[in-house]
Amino acid sequence: MKILILGGGPAGLGAAWRLNQLGHHTWDLLEASHHAGGLASSFRDKNGFFWDIGGHVQFSHYEYFDSLMHDLIPPGDWLTHQRKSWVWMRNRFIPYPFQNNIRRLPREDLARCLHGLVELYRSGPRPPQNFKDWIEATFGTGIADIFMLPYNFKVWAYPPEQLAYHWVGERVAVTDLSRVLENLIFERDDLSWGPNNVFQFPRQGGTGAIWNSCARRLPADRLHFGAQVEEIDAGRRIVTTADGCTWSYDRLISTIPLTQLLRLSGRKDLAAAARRGLRYSSSNIVGIGLKGQPPEHLKTKCWMYFPESDCPYYRVTVFSNYSRYNVPDPQRTWSLMTETSESRYKPVKHDTLVQETIRGLLNTKLIQEVSDVVSTWSYRAEHGYPTPGLYRDQALAKILPVLELDDIYSRGRFGAWKYEVSNQDHSFMQGLEIVERLLNGRPEITLPDPSHANSRKHPFPFERWRI
Ligand SMILES: Cc1cc2nc3c(=O)[nH]c(=O)nc-3n(C[C@H](O)[C@H](O)[C@H](O)COP(=O)(O)OP(=O)(O)OC[C@H]3O[C@@H](n4cnc5c(N)ncnc54)[C@H](O)[C@@H]3O)c2cc1C
Repeated sequence: MKILILGGGPAGLGAAWRLNQLGHHTWDLLEASHHAGGLASSFRDKNGFFWDIGGHVQFSHYEYFDSLMHDLIPPGDWLTHQRKSWVWMRNRFIPYPFQNNIRRLPREDLARCLHGLVELYRSGPRPPQNFKDWIEATFGTGIADIFMLPYNFKVWAYPPEQLAYHWVGERVAVTDLSRVLENLIFERDDLSWGPNNVFQFPRQGGTGAIWNSCARRLPADRLHFGAQVEEIDAGRRIVTTADGCTWSYDRLISTIPLTQLLRLSGRKDLAAAARRGLRYSSSNIVGIGLKGQPPEHLKTKCWMYFPESDCPYYRVTVFSNYSRYNVPDPQRTWSLMTETSESRYKPVKHDTLVQETIRGLLNTKLIQEVSDVVSTWSYRAEHGYPTPGLYRDQALAKILPVLELDDIYSRGRFGAWKYEVSNQDHSFMQGLEIVERLLNGRPEITLPDPSHANSRKHPFPFERWRI
């Protein structure tokens, strides 16, 4: 079976890694750019600052992925961090999760939040229709209006009523009224919640170091960089790249954006479903290299959320806190990495974004002086977040099985378009699992059942493979 893999991000590498591990030798991987890693790549700017494509932290649902990480980067070359994330609003920092720490709000806002929560408990459960309903039904109208709705519009770049809510699962902390009240009465900050409250980061080279190491461990003659796929002839099972080369296959594992796959393979019959269901937002990353040392209040922070309109970004990572090697000289420099989302509902002026970002950093008191900025770097990922829109699952249920009839398997963050299983661990495992299905007839776990995938840490081989 000749397998062709499109894309050299974590999903494509996951497929290649498993093929290689199983001793299957007839495969090739085509990657348009000149390096591995996709959205999980890192870059060194002209002044020696390292940047990721937005804040990436390692958190995994799979024992296989955990041991792979330590295989690719030796245990001593990982740094472990306690997640310390904050929300900046009303001119102050509030610990995340916001809803557990509303005691830090000004009194009028606190009263609104509590009123909304009490109303919620009084009125009983209401079945939500979309993400906006879900937010209001989970947090009450006070927390929704003050934080959740503005913040989520800033992150997703879509009105929350256009998003579904069943993807939320472990990704959003829900509210426990008695815990909120206890925190209020005992004046306690509630910091540690959720699955990634401890995370790891490579000591050197940023997140991209992981995937560079992965690619280096694969046979170099099968990884083809600078190979931009331009046409897919599903009938003849031939892929053509920009340099005119043709690649035949028996099975195609594609990890490029599904909408692009449909266009390159001329699937006009699926275009309407894709247009309706497959929405996405772009990610604009601006890295700001600074002279001196971080101010006292940023010394231990990992990342911060920004729901208000005094800055373009929704999140900022104190990237120099992740590793001293992320900056050229840790005694004299530090760095902030910002993320600004974009869609037709939320356009971004690219030519002024760096200036607006610096102005935002001043407004939100992350920097004191413009003259502290010694380096700026920007990167735009056209496909940043696969939007969990209301019609996504309908579209996927129509498109993916039809492609499989032609032996095309679309997997990964934008290959399968499922935000809830689109982190590095999920994407890598989607690649691995499709190989297991094709070679050994084992069922996939992550893509068909995201809630199961996210429910716990999975042993390997998967329990469901043993049944
Ligand atoms: C802002 C942001 C923050 C994130 N934070 C985290 C985090 O904290 N933790 C985490 O685990 N994950 C995070 N992620 C997600 C992580 O980056 C993805 O899980 C991962 O990169 C997806 O891997 P993939 O292989 O599915 O897709 P991609 O990484 O998108 O790889 C697809 C590859 O296909 C290639 N390609 C596209 N078109 C063609 C073509 N025509 N021909 C050939 N090649 C092509 C691309 O160049 C790319 O290399 C984040 C992502 C973003 C954008």
